[in-house]
Amino acid sequence: MSTKIWLSSPHMGGNEIKYVNEAFETNWIAPLGPNVDNFENDLCSYTGMKYAAALVSGTSAIHLALIQLGVQAGDEVICSSFTFSASANPILYQGAVPVFVDSEELTWNMSPQLLEKAIKDRISKGGNLKAIILVHLYGMPAQMDELMAIANHYNIPVIEDAAEGLGSTYKGKALGTLGTVGVLSFNGNKIITTSGGGALLSDDESFIKHTRFLATQARDNAPHYQHSHVGYNYRMSNISAGIGRGQMEVIQERVEQRRKNYNFYYENLSDVSKVSFLTEAEGYYSNRWLSCIVLENYEQREILRLALEKENIESRPLWKPLHLQPIFDKYPSYLNEVSEKLFNCGLCLPSGSNLTIKDLQRVLKVIKHVLS
Ligand SMILES: *Cc1c(COP(=O)(O)O)cnc(C)c1O
Repeated sequence: MSTKIWLSSPHMGGNEIKYVNEAFETNWIAPLGPNVDNFENDLCSYTGMKYAAALVSGTSAIHLALIQLGVQAGDEVICSSFTFSASANPILYQGAVPVFVDSEELTWNMSPQLLEKAIKDRISKGGNLKAIILVHLYGMPAQMDELMAIANHYNIPVIEDAAEGLGSTYKGKALGTLGTVGVLSFNGNKIITTSGGGALLSDDESFIKHTRFLATQARDNAPHYQHSHVGYNYRMSNISAGIGRGQMEVIQERVEQRRKNYNFYYENLSDVSKVSFLTEAEGYYSNRWLSCIVLENYEQREILRLALEKENIESRPLWKPLHLQPIFDKYPSYLNEVSEKLFNCGLCLPSGSNLTIKDLQRVLKVIKHVLS
């Protein structure tokens, strides 16, 4: 059997181990330390955001964002339906109600028209809308100008879930810096990884200070343990942050390598009429975290997925929309069938920055064989 080709696997730059060793040598084996501070600085200088809090996961970053935006039991939070479950789970942690909004076809992200429709309808039903969670799926920026104009008009804060979008830009600006607060993830399958981790980004210093406070058990200033808030243990470890510092040295290469994968598939499949791609509109720059294709129907997609599996190549259907998930399907949703069709016909292809040209050719051979 030929070696396994993964969808998206970790890809170290080389210097990660140096920063991890430094942590050992100085005994900073804790959820704080010089690597954490430096990693936060790296994130700020790369994205252009003023402040960052490094946390244990992207999920914890969304949770702390919701808490600080005052989301409580019974409140409503609008969320993209076409996303990974972690975008919406923290809404349930707070006992709040997720309201799902479907996608548009240009970027596959939240439809501005449906967002406005959802807001008007929730308000008319007396819903207490507290926040909007906007996702940039697979690294493709959402229609930020249109979405932010609506959010600002109704005065609803936006949590920008850029977990899949580090390295992407919208009109020259980094994803994660365009909403009220931004969320990043460094899970093992993301464009860079700390083995597991995340961050909250903001231009408001007091917001990030409060994030760090809540993430380290909310200890009041006193010699004994004193608490007047519910605390969380969500701070990133100094070991993980060491990996992150090494990864930030190569982030730009990782973006270029992933974009190269996409271009390889795009160019080599241009003559296969059954395959379509998500292209970049003017002003939209995607890190191409995952290269995705859309086939003509579900059966074609499954035939291809299974043929790849047989050749020891990992692929995955596009994310199942949250309004169709058993844990979320009872909540309100505003739909247009775009995400459901993408789920039925779409496939994520191997997209790691460490794929070789031989790997890509192996994938291409199977696709061409199945579809022509
Ligand atoms: C990965 C991911 C998250 C969660 O990040 P973790 O670091 O795995 O907790 C949230 N939203 C989206 C869109 C993701 O892809």
